[in-house]
Amino acid sequence: MKLYETIQDAYKLAQTYNDPELLGKLMDVRGQILDIQEELMDLRQEVENLRKIQAIESDIERHDEPYITLKSDGNKILRCATCWDRKHELIQLQKTPPQFNHVMGTHECPICKTKVNYTK
Ligand SMILES: [Zn+2]
Repeated sequence: MKLYETIQDAYKLAQTYNDPELLGKLMDVRGQILDIQEELMDLRQEVENLRKIQAIESDIERHDEPYITLKSDGNKILRCATCWDRKHELIQLQKTPPQFNHVMGTHECPICKTKVNYTK
């Protein structure tokens, strides 16, 4: 960051004048720049996360029952709508009881226990 380098240069210059008050102020500014850099990194991470969520959101198919499927998923795996809406987590629903092979029937989220009656 160019601003940080400029402050560093100013700090070195202030050292030659041996002005403690100016050095103190420049140290404060340097600390504030580091705080801003940290906040900027956090915001970039948050933007990246929101972009990922937005990409998944546009891929989601909603249904009457509280499950979602993804347009891009050819297998149309049933996922929990509650977990997605609450925490943006894609949790695969589990067939209950698990011994039945066909998809039709009751499914449950292993995390939040939302039950889905899949009839298609
Ligand atoms: Zn869930």
